[in-house]
Amino acid sequence: MSFHNTLAYAQQMDEADTLRHFRNEYHIPQHHGNDCIYFTGNSLGLQPKATAAYLNQELADWAQYGVEGHFHAKRPWFPYHEFLRNSAANLVGALPSEVVMMNQLTVNLHLMLTSFYQPTAERYKIIYEYNPFPSDRYALASHAYLHGFETDDALIELKPSSGSALIKTADIIKTIETHADTLALVMIGGVNYYSGQAFDMQAITLAAHKAGARCGFDLAHAAGNLKLQLHKWNVDFAVWCSYKYLNSGPGGVAGCFVHQHHADNFKLPRLAGWWGNDPETRFEMPETFIPKEGADGWQLSNAPVMSMACHRAALDLFDAAGMDALVAKSKMLTNYLEFIIDDVLQKQPNHNGISIITPRQSDERGCQLSIRIEKNGKKIHQYLTQKGIIADWREPDVLRVAPVPMYNTFIDVFYFGDALQQAIAYAGA
Ligand SMILES: *Cc1c(COP(=O)(O)O)cnc(C)c1O
Repeated sequence: MSFHNTLAYAQQMDEADTLRHFRNEYHIPQHHGNDCIYFTGNSLGLQPKATAAYLNQELADWAQYGVEGHFHAKRPWFPYHEFLRNSAANLVGALPSEVVMMNQLTVNLHLMLTSFYQPTAERYKIIYEYNPFPSDRYALASHAYLHGFETDDALIELKPSSGSALIKTADIIKTIETHADTLALVMIGGVNYYSGQAFDMQAITLAAHKAGARCGFDLAHAAGNLKLQLHKWNVDFAVWCSYKYLNSGPGGVAGCFVHQHHADNFKLPRLAGWWGNDPETRFEMPETFIPKEGADGWQLSNAPVMSMACHRAALDLFDAAGMDALVAKSKMLTNYLEFIIDDVLQKQPNHNGISIITPRQSDERGCQLSIRIEKNGKKIHQYLTQKGIIADWREPDVLRVAPVPMYNTFIDVFYFGDALQQAIAYAGA
């Protein structure tokens, strides 16, 4: 593929894009009356235009039926999570019974750690990724502490190769093997939120199981971004949020995956709530908790219908587009962005020490590129923002840009390059 850094070429790529009509299904934030170049779908995805109608349906049914809406609403609230099941399962490569939408991401992570981190005096260590999203580290540390271990002793952070932000798969596997006798759990992000590195989840899961440990993933930056096969990969558990790539609104309902291997293992300790009880007997209000088989048995509370309605609207678009087509476009779009950035940097040798820290191979990343800017990075970010380009600045020195295949265009990428060139000149080296 030979790319060109011209508007005409970007236009031509957009015209050939079979997913381009999906952009019209979203509200694009405005800047002085024009569409922003929105490259932060990895942080908060855009609102589908259909979301309002889905929400209004629930408000109308609540107004009309009151409590009877649990059974008489257009989409009855009692089983509302069922309306999300098949789409969510498709999205992460799971059997329908292996997934449930519930709570929020960090809550689901705690529920999973309660069940799948069962340390003993000999086997209690947790391997996790370098520079994880802080919530993940807090959750892991709190479980180690809960079981009476020193967190510094129990937690093993995977280190990147020197001079790089990336962790090699071979090094991850070596670390797992080194700690095989004491390892209880491997828990990492499917895609690291900072570097944009996508991990080889299948290879990591296999190595963890060989070592006699369990393996789970935080898919906050992977769900809706990568093609996932959680069932096939034998992942024990996974959690994800719905407000980043999945466009379901701030604080939206989160996802949880529990592999079928554990579906009827009722001996696993778990935190129980009435919604995890078998729905056949739930309203008999039994004294003893009888969990439903599968991921459903980890539910605590009744369905947050408003948030789930937003998620339903967003999933319609993923069902229509399909992850295969989205991933194919994503690779083209992000490869184009990489080409444009390289072109800009090559034309401006005096360029503030800018480099892409995300892997260069497209199967080791999703759509996010993380750009390290050693000098005047904040000024560059400010300049881009003034031009209506919404990208994300992370201390100390990284600009994250994520052209998402659902609604971003090749023209967005072209204009980003144009503005980056101006920003470098403006910020001074
Ligand atoms: C976004 C994100 C979170 C946020 O957790 P919430 O419980 O949704 O607030 C946690 N972990 C990772 C890896 C994330 O990317």
